Amino acid sequence: MNFKGHVLGGIVAGSVVAAGATYLGHVAPDDLTTQAAVAGTALFFSLFPDLDTASVAQRWFFRGVFCTLLYLGWIEDYELATLVGILCVLPLLDHHRGWTHSKISPFITVGLLGTTYEYWRARQAFLGEFNWDNVHTLLEGHWVFFIAGIAGWYTHLLLDGRFKVFPTGQDHH
Ligand SMILES: [Zn+2]
Repeated sequence: MNFKGHVLGGIVAGSVVAAGATYLGHVAPDDLTTQAAVAGTALFFSLFPDLDTASVAQRWFFRGVFCTLLYLGWIEDYELATLVGILCVLPLLDHHRGWTHSKISPFITVGLLGTTYEYWRARQAFLGEFNWDNVHTLLEGHWVFFIAGIAGWYTHLLLDGRFKVFPTGQDHH
């Protein structure tokens, strides 16, 4: 699947997750910032797997990442900046359609990084009195983003034909 297809898929996946989260009451209907952030997360992860190859899309993606990092530094959200930084290097560690296109990567990566991130934040937020209840409290506001990330990533794999949803279709990889 080409870049345009993945952008489209990411927008669809993001809209579905954002609408679903709002419908289920996890995001307030008038909280457009969070809705946009959830949709943006899904879009980010639907483009993420193809960062493993040099392309015009990749360059634009990293321009976006650059601006995001500048912004996060400016508002002093260093935890999120670190997370974005680590994430964006990950696809470059392997050849094209390597580990980022594996079927279990979305779960493992988002799960692992998400948990670490929450742990980090919890440690910052509750310095002396760290416990897992606090992590749980923080997690509650964030799990929608994990779902969005995983949904976006799987949308990419689906469009790349990693799952045989169309049994008669040709498999290119
Ligand atoms: Zn791909």
